Amino acid sequence: MSAPTIKEAVVTLSAGPVAVYPSVLRALSRPVAYHYDPYFQHFFESVAKKAATALRVKEPALLLQVEPAPAIEAAAASLIGPEDTVLNLASGVYGKGFGYWSARYHKDMVEIEVPFNEAIDPADVAAAFKQRPDIKIVSLVHHDTPSGTINPIREIGKIVRDHGALLLVDAVSSFGGMDVHPDDCHVDVFITGPGKCLGGAPGTTVVAVSERAWAHMEANPKAPRASILSYLDWKDAWRHDKPFPFTPSVAEINGLDAVFDQYLNEGPEKVWRRHALTAAATRAGVKAMGLELWAKTEAIASPTTTAIRVPDGVTEQAWVSTARDAFGVVFSGGFGATAGKVLRVGHMGPAAEPIYATTAITAMGGALRKLGHKVDVGAGIEAALAVIAAG
Ligand SMILES: *Cc1c(COP(=O)(O)O)cnc(C)c1O
Repeated sequence: MSAPTIKEAVVTLSAGPVAVYPSVLRALSRPVAYHYDPYFQHFFESVAKKAATALRVKEPALLLQVEPAPAIEAAAASLIGPEDTVLNLASGVYGKGFGYWSARYHKDMVEIEVPFNEAIDPADVAAAFKQRPDIKIVSLVHHDTPSGTINPIREIGKIVRDHGALLLVDAVSSFGGMDVHPDDCHVDVFITGPGKCLGGAPGTTVVAVSERAWAHMEANPKAPRASILSYLDWKDAWRHDKPFPFTPSVAEINGLDAVFDQYLNEGPEKVWRRHALTAAATRAGVKAMGLELWAKTEAIASPTTTAIRVPDGVTEQAWVSTARDAFGVVFSGGFGATAGKVLRVGHMGPAAEPIYATTAITAMGGALRKLGHKVDVGAGIEAALAVIAAG
């Protein structure tokens, strides 16, 4: 095999997948068990329970053997029945995208769409229910990663519950990096995965499903069965004495076990704090350097990803590739509707350490200088350090 001609990155500060914790890497090299070995059946059950502890829910979590994107599509297929009216909340690429999946299953859809640098206003959700009391399912992306913006999930969750509707939330890039749990926010289908804030490898999905949501799926005549899109097939698969619908990703389950150990042993509050501090230091540095945040207000800027507007006279592609070529630092560009408009710095998992704010400022600023764009890198570093010192 010939060696790859492109060197590995020195530091990965992408918006996901992210760098993985050493403890998770070690777990991924554990022996791969036969899935019907009683050892593995009990192990799978214990991982589903550990996930529930992290999610702060009573029932073991649903562990799906796919990436979160297909798991969100499967949620649409399983939950949304032919008589359901859906309220889709779109403040970014993922939020807008859910509506296209929903369209395959729903009777009707109401959509609230805001510019992709803004957040959903809970008052608009309340107004939608007034106008359309038939809304049965509401879909929300908590952190729309291509925009680096956070939606007010608690306020929205309360409104949805007060109207007796079901709330489906994509929390893929927020859970594990900030204080958000399904029960606090009245979420009925809460979807997350190991490849973002939890600092694991991508490839599986972890879901908390409420009793009400299971009942709705069971009553849905079109809910898929014997299909990769089926939630119901996997409902009881966590039990050591129940069969798996197909072979679980054994090595990835080893990784998931370590992901939740890492999170619970460090302590969730500590983990959230370093995510928030790294993001705050990065934002301060970005502004002091003379650059502009993508989020319309800093109040909605994510503690797990910072999106920065690409300055005039520079392209996103040149900025991202120069940072990598000159410094070995990997950033993400935009995605979908934000492609070409933003550079994104991930503060997730092991990259959520304040020192990486200064790394990010140096690499972003250094790359812009190389491209002939004037920025005050020193002021950016000082501002980031000031936030870290105060934190
Ligand atoms: C990463 C991410 C997903 C999952 O997308 P994949 O392509 O499966 O990695 C879903 N939603 C959001 C908001 C994400 O950031």
